Amino acid sequence: MRVLAPYLALYKRHKWLLSLGIILAIVTLLASIGLITLSGWFLSASAVAGFAGAYSFNYMLPAAGVRGAAITRTAGRYFERLVSHDATFRVLQHLRVFTFSKLLPLSPAGLARFRQGELLNRIVADVDTLDHLYLRVISPLISALVVILVVTFGLSFLDVTLALTLGGIMLLTLVALPPLFYRAGKPTGESLTRLRGEYRQQLTSWLHGQAELTIFGASTRYREQMEQTEMNWHDAQRRQSELTALSQALMLLMGATAVIVMLWMASGGVGSNMQPGPLIALFVFCALAAFEALAPVTAAFQHLGQVIASASRITELTTQQPEVTFPSASAAPPQHVSLILKDIGFSYPQQTQPALDNISLHINAGEHVAILGRTGCGKSTLLQLLTRAWDPQRGEVLLNQQPLSSFDEMTLRRSMSMVPQRVHLFSATLRDNLLLAAPHATDEALSAVLLRTGLDKLLEDGGLNSWLGEGGRQLSGGELRRLAIARALLHNAPLMLLDEPTEGLDATTEAQILDLLADVMRDKTVLMVTHRLRGLARFNQIIVMDNGQIIEQGNHAELLARQGRYYQFRQRL
Ligand code: ATP
Ligand code: MG
Repeated sequence: MRVLAPYLALYKRHKWLLSLGIILAIVTLLASIGLITLSGWFLSASAVAGFAGAYSFNYMLPAAGVRGAAITRTAGRYFERLVSHDATFRVLQHLRVFTFSKLLPLSPAGLARFRQGELLNRIVADVDTLDHLYLRVISPLISALVVILVVTFGLSFLDVTLALTLGGIMLLTLVALPPLFYRAGKPTGESLTRLRGEYRQQLTSWLHGQAELTIFGASTRYREQMEQTEMNWHDAQRRQSELTALSQALMLLMGATAVIVMLWMASGGVGSNMQPGPLIALFVFCALAAFEALAPVTAAFQHLGQVIASASRITELTTQQPEVTFPSASAAPPQHVSLILKDIGFSYPQQTQPALDNISLHINAGEHVAILGRTGCGKSTLLQLLTRAWDPQRGEVLLNQQPLSSFDEMTLRRSMSMVPQRVHLFSATLRDNLLLAAPHATDEALSAVLLRTGLDKLLEDGGLNSWLGEGGRQLSGGELRRLAIARALLHNAPLMLLDEPTEGLDATTEAQILDLLADVMRDKTVLMVTHRLRGLARFNQIIVMDNGQIIEQGNHAELLARQGRYYQFRQRL
């Protein structure tokens, strides 16, 4: 239950709207009880008056009361739904934004252990489940309690014993049944939440991996596994429905018992009047109607298990401490960037082998550095540390003589342009895919950059509005690289981090792109990871890495003269 506390605190933001929802729920319930109680009494009193030949019976007032209660009930129900759902959706909206804003700084280090489908499930389905907390738990519970008090108090004017008996039975029901069904529903609620997550996760990976699964003939096996999860999920849903039915049956039983008790007690007289009269009908109908008000309460507690499971899954995400944090003070982005790496050591979580070890580097502003090395030797990791996707466990990175960690996020992002090894294409227009690197760029600037990177073909149909990625045009590996270069050019920062920018390009396009890069990089500091040995003579420094360490360092001529690893690389060409 304690896990719900932070979410209950969220409700404070809309406390007036939420309270109004509860008040409207109470008014509706009372109007509903009033309507049935009054009509029950009115019909029997009219019949009795007819039999007795008492023609002075005032039927105007109760008839107006019945109509008033009917109208109040209808209008109350409408506005109660409107207000309470509006308030709940506001809370959910806030909760979703809150959860997402907590997720962002965790990326990528803190999110690596969650699968994508799992994250999606938590931010969508688990947040949605929390709407039960107010609509199905808090509101019905408070309303039921108030209704019991008002009904007992109201009836006590006619007969204290009868009123207390009915109130007692209702209170007993309210105290006994919900905890019983909470306990009974908890395991089912938890497995419902877990199975829903599992199913969604399996479905997303099945959809993503369609091509591979089909090619290797594994699709059926995956499908069967998914169907098994679906069956288990259905089983859990069935168990929950059975519990709901049982709770309703028990509630009916309690209600019917209350009606019989009222009938039996009231037939012995109501208040000071010892003769059976129309007031018997009043008590009987009141008992019937009041139990209707209690009906949602048991079901509510059954959902509590599900709500608590969802809340703890969200809390597990939001309470993680980001591994990388940024100071808030902002500074003007630098015009030129120099870098010093002092004895850097870094291992990925749960990895025994360090990805980088003892890396020391000195890069002056405007210098161009090429990083070479066998696959897996830590080249991309080195660039990742400079973007602060991760922080090194040992050593220090200085940017313009200041620790990298002293820069706020915005300044840091403005200081560097990155062409990552894995380029992400957003499911959005070509324009949006470029604008993320330079939000204020004009359409002309975007088209010019596409032309420079040889991507003008993309402008042919649909222009900048053409849709890319999922549901749109997919790009080839080489086009994707060039899109990343276009983004880096638009961002136009003084430090350029290029991770194999010409991978997947044919020789002619590679030469064009290298010329283009040489042109734009002229007054920038550049770190370029590459497996290609063409054009390296232009670089001020060449670094050869192996096993997370720098094994050779110098310019093209020096390294050739040394006849080490760089020399061997070239010999093999
Ligand atoms: P390539 O030339 O193939 O791109 P690279 O030199 O860029 O290789 P890195 O991507 O830096 O290599 O990886 C260095 C080592 O760290 C590899 O052994 C890799 O398996 C490991 N590694 C990379 N990313 C992660 C990660 N997120 N978690 C754990 N280990 C990782
Ligand atoms: Mg790499």
